[in-house]
Amino acid sequence: MSPRPRRGGGRRGARRPRGPEPPPASGSLVDLGRLLAGLEGRQYPGYKAARGSFHEEGLTLHVDRVQGDPFAAPSRLRGVLDPAEAQLPEWALSTPQRRVSCADFLLRRFVVALRKESSRKGSGKSGELSVPAPGPCVLARSCLRVHADGSVEARFTAGLPARGRRILGHEAAELLTGDVPAALDALCFPALDADALRAHLDTVEDAQALRAQLEDRGLVAFVAEGAVLPRRSGVDPAPLPGAVPFAPPAGLSVTLEAPHAGALRGLGVRRGVTLITGGGYHGKSTVLRALEHGVYDHVPGDGRERVVSLADAVKIRAEDGRAVRRTDISAFISNLPGDLDTRAFSTDNASGSTSQAAAIAEALEVGTRCLLIDEDTSATNFMIRDARMQALVPAAREPITPFLDRVRQLADAGVSSVVVIGGSGDYLDVADTVLTLEAYRPRDATAAAREVAARLPTQREVQPGSWSAPRPRGLDPASLDARRGRREVALKVPTLDRLLFGEDEVHVAAVEQLVELGQLRAIGHALAWLQRTAREPLELRDAVARAQAELERDGPEAFLRGAPESGLAEFRAQELAAVLNRLRSLRVN
Ligand code: ADP
Ligand code: MG
Repeated sequence: MSPRPRRGGGRRGARRPRGPEPPPASGSLVDLGRLLAGLEGRQYPGYKAARGSFHEEGLTLHVDRVQGDPFAAPSRLRGVLDPAEAQLPEWALSTPQRRVSCADFLLRRFVVALRKESSRKGSGKSGELSVPAPGPCVLARSCLRVHADGSVEARFTAGLPARGRRILGHEAAELLTGDVPAALDALCFPALDADALRAHLDTVEDAQALRAQLEDRGLVAFVAEGAVLPRRSGVDPAPLPGAVPFAPPAGLSVTLEAPHAGALRGLGVRRGVTLITGGGYHGKSTVLRALEHGVYDHVPGDGRERVVSLADAVKIRAEDGRAVRRTDISAFISNLPGDLDTRAFSTDNASGSTSQAAAIAEALEVGTRCLLIDEDTSATNFMIRDARMQALVPAAREPITPFLDRVRQLADAGVSSVVVIGGSGDYLDVADTVLTLEAYRPRDATAAAREVAARLPTQREVQPGSWSAPRPRGLDPASLDARRGRREVALKVPTLDRLLFGEDEVHVAAVEQLVELGQLRAIGHALAWLQRTAREPLELRDAVARAQAELERDGPEAFLRGAPESGLAEFRAQELAAVLNRLRSLRVN
């Protein structure tokens, strides 16, 4: 049934109609254009009549949600290109990962196309077309999907044009039936640079192949020769222009095989305990940060396309002030004043050392085989305790066993560590490999470090006790409560630092391996999904695994109940657990 434009001025200026929304419209894009033009001059809520689906020559435009006000959150739309319209070649569709990479490529083109077509047309967000801009990682996202049949689905928002609170119907028609189809046309294969698309797919496949070789080669990370690690700034993830390219040191270089790029030489970071040392400002933290990001695949041109780490590697840092819930930190901390039980330690206000110990226990709980630690973001008393301090404060009055005394035991239990430390030579005793950086150039200093360690004994005493895996916790799924007022799922992600989840405000600035807002938003949905679907208490790690299985099967939208959303991206189990563990309302036992 074709929608007809509303007749005459009878309803012009009428009060906003109450009651149920009009049924969704359907028809051709031409019909949509006519419908919108016919709304010219009406009160803004008249736009509700445009909700529906409109088809034309291989393109379907769905108007899923219409904003009620020109200043409100913009309207939500979806454009679907039929396979015959998109014309994507078989090689871009043949595996799920290729479809994700292809969608990532298309999204970057779509951002540019929407920006070009977007024009201010009136008040508020009138005429604005937008889609969440991606960072440098290739992720599955809900805003742009390439389906197995070769169809392409793009989700975006549009500010439906108004002057004051009156509809600019002709401009809306131009926007939705002219500008939007033009932007979607930019996603059809004939409009794409086929070589660039192929390079995008190959780059991701190479990175995944490199990552897959780590384990067999006894490595936890690989940094290819020529990689560009530093970023332009703390807020700009583009590669730093003029940076010194990475040059692997002879003793530690390995060659891995990439399916497209062939044999690649690079630094192999071995299992066990690796120290990254060197003078201040010589690039230590930059290397570690690249390893943190090595759990993700990067776009061509990023500089870190061939930097890979074990997929479950976790950055561990101190975060005083955070909440901790019944976490077993006894491997590092015991005999706290006030007789606090450190096998089930809870606080609303962790210290530097307890927060760092909790971060390790939480990461191990969901399974990690590689900890990444930087002295810049660590609590000193968690990392080290030298001979003089041991002499001054007797062990009985010091609750903390420093990481120094556990890092080897962890390695023996299969959990490697890469530790950036320029400030304490005590670590030389426990390292398998020592890398130093000199003006951004890495050197193998393992032999020199052994010699120093033998010549200058630390005289400290190794604190007794042994490593044991933290006690797994049970999760009460009912405590993952996303409700707020009348809303079943109240989620807001104002920045990458903060998730508003129900009544809870979760600070996640210290969860450094979160890279896109969409991940945090999808994690919020996953928590709400766990609360809805997990009927009984279960182990926290099983809950996280269950959400991860759902994500793998259905993508980041798996957790949605209502309307489609554009702002979701895939995430790791480690980040889901990290957010969950920072919920102040969390109940575990
Ligand atoms: P450190 O942790 O050793 O103190 P950082 O890793 O913080 O040093 O790096 C110090 C500065 O050097 C940063 O501004 C960083 O961007 C820059 N930098 C790091 N690596 C390189 C490189 N390979 N080429 C050029 N500049 C770099
Ligand atoms: Mg540093």
